[in-house]
Amino acid sequence: MTGIPKTHPRYHSLIARENIVEGVNKGITSMQGLVAQGRGECFDYLLGERTVPSALLAEKITSALLLLADRPVISVNGNTSALVPEKMVELASVTGASLEVNLFHRTEERVSRIISHLESFGATRVLGARGDGRLDLEHARAIVDQEGIYSADVVLVPLEDGDRCQKLVEMGKTVIAIDLNPFSRTSKTATLTIVDNVSRAMANMISYSQQFEKYSQEELEEIADHFDNSTFLSEAVGELMENLKNQ
Ligand code: ATP
Ligand code: MG
Repeated sequence: MTGIPKTHPRYHSLIARENIVEGVNKGITSMQGLVAQGRGECFDYLLGERTVPSALLAEKITSALLLLADRPVISVNGNTSALVPEKMVELASVTGASLEVNLFHRTEERVSRIISHLESFGATRVLGARGDGRLDLEHARAIVDQEGIYSADVVLVPLEDGDRCQKLVEMGKTVIAIDLNPFSRTSKTATLTIVDNVSRAMANMISYSQQFEKYSQEELEEIADHFDNSTFLSEAVGELMENLKNQ
């Protein structure tokens, strides 16, 4: 890894790049994942590399939804396992969610590498290797676990592709996407989209979930009551435009 001084003004972004490259070298991230990260970085720049207020609210609502769910699942891909392995393990543990590996560029070897990688950060049980359930899609993201994503009621899908997101919504699930691009099909189809960097989003959701652990069901329901994804997306676009105007 290149030595990046903590004082560098773009430290976090550069570390993320290093982590993604290391993910590719370890065989957990796909080469295509590098391109996806680049697209994300661009939108993060436009948003000012910060969590905008509407994203923070979406993170608060998501934490409540995960705690209220009967069968919550956090979907893991090659990019998130390189960028936020520890945070995903922690969020799953605080909310009682399962972790499930689900890959667009799926090979059984990559699935098992990601599972071992998450285990090295303390995960005790990671789903995704069994692949005994099918979504009605023509690519490898159709392969899911029956006891995981297939039967989940709430699914958190960081860096998802649009058609699986749509399929999961059609199955009646509450689907929460984390996607820095407010224009993507994923962002538009999800039940709720967090327009934020996955790294900041995960950290905020861990704090909210810890804070909410003692909340009653009624209190959580009040937080997660009534939200409209399109307002979250237009607020993110508004922030982006303001940022551009102020340059
Ligand atoms: P669509 O959702 O329109 O089908 P896509 O899924 O094909 O598009 P990809 O490039 O495969 O597009 O998906 C990656 C998405 O993840 C991009 O929209 C990108 O902005 C977002 N992204 C990449 N890195 C991060 C990150 N670190 N945090 C949050 N979002 C990210
Ligand atoms: Mg997408």
